[in-house]
Amino acid sequence: MMELINTISRERSAALFQEAKRYFPGGVNSPVRAFKSVSGPPLFIKEGQGCRITDEDDNVFLDFCCSWGPLILGHNNAAIREKVIETVQRGTSFGTPTRLGNELGQLILAHNPYVEKIRFVSSGTEAVMSAIRLARGATGRSKLLKFEGCYHGHVDSLMVKAGSGLATFGESTSAGIPAAFAQETLVLPLNQPELLEQVLQEHHQDLAAVIIEPIPANNGLLLQDRSFLQLLRERCTAHGVLLIFDEVISGFRVGFAGAAGYYDIQPDILTYGKIIWGGMPVGAYGASAELMSHIAPEGGVYQAGTLSANPVAMAAGYAALQQLVEPGFYEALDAKTQQFVAGIQSYCDERDYPVRIARAGSIFWMAFGRERIVSADQIDPASMEKFKHLHHELLQKGIYLGPSGYEVRFVSAAHTTADLEEARYAICEGLDTVFAT
Ligand SMILES: *Cc1c(COP(=O)(O)O)cnc(C)c1O
Repeated sequence: MMELINTISRERSAALFQEAKRYFPGGVNSPVRAFKSVSGPPLFIKEGQGCRITDEDDNVFLDFCCSWGPLILGHNNAAIREKVIETVQRGTSFGTPTRLGNELGQLILAHNPYVEKIRFVSSGTEAVMSAIRLARGATGRSKLLKFEGCYHGHVDSLMVKAGSGLATFGESTSAGIPAAFAQETLVLPLNQPELLEQVLQEHHQDLAAVIIEPIPANNGLLLQDRSFLQLLRERCTAHGVLLIFDEVISGFRVGFAGAAGYYDIQPDILTYGKIIWGGMPVGAYGASAELMSHIAPEGGVYQAGTLSANPVAMAAGYAALQQLVEPGFYEALDAKTQQFVAGIQSYCDERDYPVRIARAGSIFWMAFGRERIVSADQIDPASMEKFKHLHHELLQKGIYLGPSGYEVRFVSAAHTTADLEEARYAICEGLDTVFAT
């Protein structure tokens, strides 16, 4: 690979990263932040305003990572900031119910017909862990079925990939997970109706739930046919297996009611995170009132949290979601993103660059190839060299993408049409450089 030349300074970020390595494994508190698959040290960000972030070397970037999805309103949204400050002045956590919690619960349930009752937790991972315990508790069964290419947080029994053979019990993808846990999980490729039916036929008596990201957005953007999701719904119902939609990314992103609303498919249990609290560390899971009655203290499925539904997160979430229920919010974001993505795609098509951009609402993903990609095995690992080059070029041009070619990109309401024009121009120029070498 050619040498990548830096025209921006990353001196202070580099020094801070050296220091951080003394404190944290790999210098980071979450692995993908380490810039392992792109060039140079990670950028240390000190400020975000609207759609722009500033690093410790005072470089400014148009941000398409948006904290990995939560910031659908951009950085430092005024209404969220003001509500948080007002709330913090009365204390940060009481470990009691609060009126703010009721207000947020009411707002969410009033605008999301797919959930009757909800429980607030403290991360997406915790939401998924709790959802699978609920599924197991409600059905009295233990096994799970997941799909290759979907990520559900760092939950033991879901950090699993397919073993040998097409539909088999999984092998863990992390050290430290007992084989017995991984064997509770079956793994299938996405978008394969026949395999799905086969596995449900064979295992339905042991299966508590099938879990899927209905808009798989953690390993590229693997948009499924609606017919596959519909079939999944029907077959789960027929076999008495619960269907969990992990909407930690898609929830409140492709519409207020997430992917369930986008496809109009009713799952049994839904999980949320990322957007739901306007940038605070929280998650949630929900289901019908009947299913949720299995949760303690109403029922026998135990799940608790010291900081669950703390008032600061509730305030931030309320201030954020109030803006999302405004009429036209998602339509405007969708139209803006559509135009932006179409501009890049037609630029590539005119030059015959092998680039294909997948999009769902304000989520997009650029693949270096020509085919439509619907399952994880279709992604060519060699194409990631192209992404690495593009990532580097774009940093020089003031565009920040999350540091991996497998990650999707997000447009926020704070990105104006002019910002997106600027980004489109830079991305097209970047692609010229990538394909010139
Ligand atoms: C991010 C994500 C998670 C994990 O959420 P955390 O808050 O990082 O624990 C789970 N599922 C999906 C689909 C996600 O995108």
